[in-house]
This record gives sequence, C-alpha cells and structure tokens, in this order.
Amino acid sequence: MTDWLWLVSLVGLTGFAAGWWLSRRRVRQSGLQQRGQFSASYVEGMNYLLNEQPDRAIDVLVSMVEVDSEAVETHLALGTLFRNQGEVERAIRIHQNLIARPTLSKGERSKALMNLGLDYKQAGLNDRAVVLFEQLAQESHPGKVKALESLLEIYQHEKEWLRAIAVSRKLQADDAVNQTHLIGHFYAELAEAALEGGDLRGAAKMVRQIRGLAPQSPRYLLLELRLAKLRGKQRLRLRWLDAIINYCPDYRLQVLDDLESYYLESNGESELVARLLELAADPDSGAQLVCQIAEKLRKIQGDEATVSLLEEHVNRTWSPLLQAKLLSLRELDGLAGEGTESRKLAAELLEGLTLSAGHHRCGKCGFEAREHHWRCPTCGAWESIQYKEVDRWLVHE
Ligand SMILES: [Zn+2]
Repeated sequence: MTDWLWLVSLVGLTGFAAGWWLSRRRVRQSGLQQRGQFSASYVEGMNYLLNEQPDRAIDVLVSMVEVDSEAVETHLALGTLFRNQGEVERAIRIHQNLIARPTLSKGERSKALMNLGLDYKQAGLNDRAVVLFEQLAQESHPGKVKALESLLEIYQHEKEWLRAIAVSRKLQADDAVNQTHLIGHFYAELAEAALEGGDLRGAAKMVRQIRGLAPQSPRYLLLELRLAKLRGKQRLRLRWLDAIINYCPDYRLQVLDDLESYYLESNGESELVARLLELAADPDSGAQLVCQIAEKLRKIQGDEATVSLLEEHVNRTWSPLLQAKLLSLRELDGLAGEGTESRKLAAELLEGLTLSAGHHRCGKCGFEAREHHWRCPTCGAWESIQYKEVDRWLVHE
C-alpha cells in the first residue's frame, strides 16, 4: 500500500472509530436499536480502506452521516477522504458547514479549520489557507505544529523568505526541531536575490546571518566567495576557494572556473598549472573534475602534456569517462595508432556520457538535472540534490 493510502486509511479509521463510538453513545442514550447497523458500517468502511477502495469507503461514510448528521468526526473523515480523492470542493463544503455549527467544541473547531486550510491549500487558494493557518498558529492546540508546517510550505512555495524565517523560528520554539539549516537556506535565497539586484551591502547583511547559523555549509562558503570576487578582494577570494576545495569536495566543479580566473589574474599560468595538477592528483577529485582540469591544462600546455596527465589517472583508476577523454584527445592530436573504429566509438561514448541525462540527483525523490539546485523542484527538500559522477552511475546502476 502506498504512503498516501496509509494516510487516508489512518485518518479514515480514526474518523470511523470516533464516529462509531459517538453514534453508539447517542444510540444508547436515545434508546434506539441501531448498534448493529453502525458496527456493520464501521467494519464495511474499514474493509474498503484496507482494500484500497476509497470510493466505496466514501459511500459508507456518506450513509453514516445521513443516519447521524451530528457526528463531527465522521464529517471530518469524509472531508479528508474527499480531499485526498481530489474532490476539494466537496471537502470545502463539508468543512465550511462544520465550522458554521455553534455547538462545536474548541478542539473540533480547530480540527475543522485546519482541514479547511488544507482544502484551500490543495485547491491553490493559498491566500485563504494562510489566513486560517496564521490564526491556528496563534492558538495552543494539538494541530499548531501542523498549521506552522503548512504555512512554511506555502511561504517556501511563494518564495516569501522573510515570512518563512519567522515561521521556522516559531516551529523551532514549539516543536523543538532544529531549523537552523533551513533558515540558513532562506537567508541564502535573500542574499542571492540581493546579488542579482546588484545590492552588495544587502547581500553581505544576509550572508552575515548565515555565518551565525551554518558557517561550514557549502552554500555559505560559495556566497562568501561570490561576494569577495564582486568586491575585488583577492586574498579573501583565495581563502574561500581553498575552504570550498578542502571542505566541500562535491562543490569543486562549481568553483573550478573561478579558481582558474583567480590564478590568471593574481599569480599567472605556472602557479595555475601547479594548483590544477595538485587538484587532479587529489583522491577526492572525481573523473568529471579531472576531465575539466585536463581541458584547462590543454589550453596552456597543449595536448601531449594533457594526455600524459590522463594516462596517469587511467592507470590508477578505472574510469570509462577518463578512458574516452584520453582516446578522443589522442585522436585530435594524431597520437593514436591503429583502430579508427574504436576511436570513433570512444568519441561517441564521451559525448554520450557528458550529455547523459543529469549529473545531479535528489537523494529523496530521484529527480535528475544537469544543473545544481539547492532545493529539489520536485519534492521541495533542501540540499538533497548531490552531484553524481557519471562513472559511478555506470558502475553501480
Ligand atoms: Zn527531490
């Protein structure tokens, strides 16, 4: 059974159980003999849910509501089932009708408001959902954390980063779950927006906030590097480049062009070559990075020196990407001997590898992309997308 259906079942069964119990109590009080009928409805509805037949379960709930129109929990369960089945308008009607009842207890009203907020959110009526969730987030009740989490989802979706920060801080206080990492990303989004608008001072202010929250995060180091470069602070720029290369090897590819331009501006070609060779020799540098380094060295030293660098690597590690790169360079330089067909195949293999779908993959949902994303566009998780070596994919999958 999928997670979604488990959720539907759980919510539905809770509703059934509560509705059935309330109904039985009322039946006893009124002296009516409907006990057997509700027991049968409960078992029937439960069976439908367990057999993944939510439509049939809805029919049973509707008949229960007709018999006992006052059963709040049964209405809530029915509304949830409608929403999960995509019938949001029906869910909204049920929850609005519930809220209009003057006899609701405080807890029942909070539950109905929460569900109405979730209906609005699913229907894309975020403005209305926000009003309800903000109201629920002020009160003390069991659904408060859920209301804050829902608000946070909406603010992230709408890129309302300052509001997202405020909600995360409330969640941290209420739910005792550390939100530091998340808040760091929200400030980083604000810093990047400021940089795009040319507001260096504003960006620096946001970056200072991240320093206090996540000073070792790759995103913070990359932002410091960007700021140092824009301000022309060369010593600082090297400091941040070194920090990324040493502490965040997965992000080396992202800063390679910057490393090259820094050395060409400040130190000259010979120091650039020494630094690139040192980086290529580091065991934490993957095949993709070594290929990019080889391309940069080729511009300075020519094909032959690059071929010997790649040969060293190929002798050390088995890597189809490096093999293909090496063969295609030999081809370009006329260094290869016999075997035109295999050289042609190697060049095609190289092209296929470098152009293959996506070099980044989300560890939570499997989303793939060529470019890096701090937040997964599919599942919304932060920093779940990691750079993957093409070679590793070939070996392990
Ligand atoms: Zn994802």
